[in-house]
Amino acid sequence: MNLILLGAPGAGKGTQAEILKEKLGIPTISTGNILREAVKNGTELGLQAKTYMESGSLVPDELVISLIKERLAQDDCKNGFILDGFPRTVPQAEALEQSGIRIDLAIDIEVSDGVILERLSGRRVCIQCGAPFHIKNSPPPADMICPKCGGEIITRKDDLPETIKARLKVYHVQTEPLKGFYEKRGKLAVVPGDISIEETTRLTMQALGV
Ligand code: AMP
Repeated sequence: MNLILLGAPGAGKGTQAEILKEKLGIPTISTGNILREAVKNGTELGLQAKTYMESGSLVPDELVISLIKERLAQDDCKNGFILDGFPRTVPQAEALEQSGIRIDLAIDIEVSDGVILERLSGRRVCIQCGAPFHIKNSPPPADMICPKCGGEIITRKDDLPETIKARLKVYHVQTEPLKGFYEKRGKLAVVPGDISIEETTRLTMQALGV
């Protein structure tokens, strides 16, 4: 199954992607995590992406398109994949389509801007494996060490309030049109993301027919 998770930053794509990965036995590919790793390691890609990411704007299409094509060509994607954070623009979706990669379903996780603001400002993530936490709903351990991988748990620079607002604007202008893109192709499912994590997963599995 080849899946896309759509939704505003903070809608819960990362959380659902991790759950679906276990349930469906296919890898999750997060362009955000790949780019953050590149920034951390100071690679050429990281150097090119860093300023865009820290200001809350999108990294140029050609950079992410080539990185995702490379990633999808790897062996572990043969039986399916879950894309988290890609495509983020209509040209990215067109590039995916033109490269002959079939998409079975785009799942749009819907959450209002007010809820997003509250969620993202409380979000903490593991710098190493990307595991998500929230100071209220799913608090990180007191020592801020990730129980999954031992990495440090931090606040992402782009989860600061002014940057969250910029990212929401980018989402509405550049990413939200993707709903229409996949709807036209009969490939869109909408699930609410402002309910419990388990309920969002249940409705997603229902949309997948599994
Ligand atoms: P995320 O973790 O998905 O919220 O991504 C963090 C940041 O990485 C975004 O705000 C963008 O700067 C960049 N990014 C991630 N995915 C993409 C993408 N598909 N296209 C452009 N920029 C992206």
